[in-house]
Amino acid sequence: MKNLLEDLVAQEYERLRPPDFCGCPQCRDDVIVFALNRLPPRYVAGNEGQVIANVALHRDQPVADVSMVLVEAFRRVGSAPRPGHAGAASGG
Ligand SMILES: [Zn+2]
Repeated sequence: MKNLLEDLVAQEYERLRPPDFCGCPQCRDDVIVFALNRLPPRYVAGNEGQVIANVALHRDQPVADVSMVLVEAFRRVGSAPRPGHAGAASGG
C-alpha cells in the first residue's frame, strides 16, 4: 500500500524549493510532513491501481493544492528554522 501523495509532494518539493531554503533532510522532512498532513491521502495497492489513481490525480487538480500547501510549508519551516539550519538566528 502506498500513498501517491508522497511521490507527488516530494516531486513538487524539489520543483518549488526556494534557493535560500535549507535543503537538509530534516527541513525537507518538516516541509513534506507538513504538506502530507494537510492533504487527503490517495492510497493505492498495486501498479494497476497506481495508473488509475495517476489519471485521477490529473483530473481534479491536486497538483495545484499540493503547490499551495507546499508554499505555506516553506514559509512555516523557513520562518522557524531549527538551530544551526539556514536562516536560523545567530547566537543562542
Ligand atoms: Zn535544515
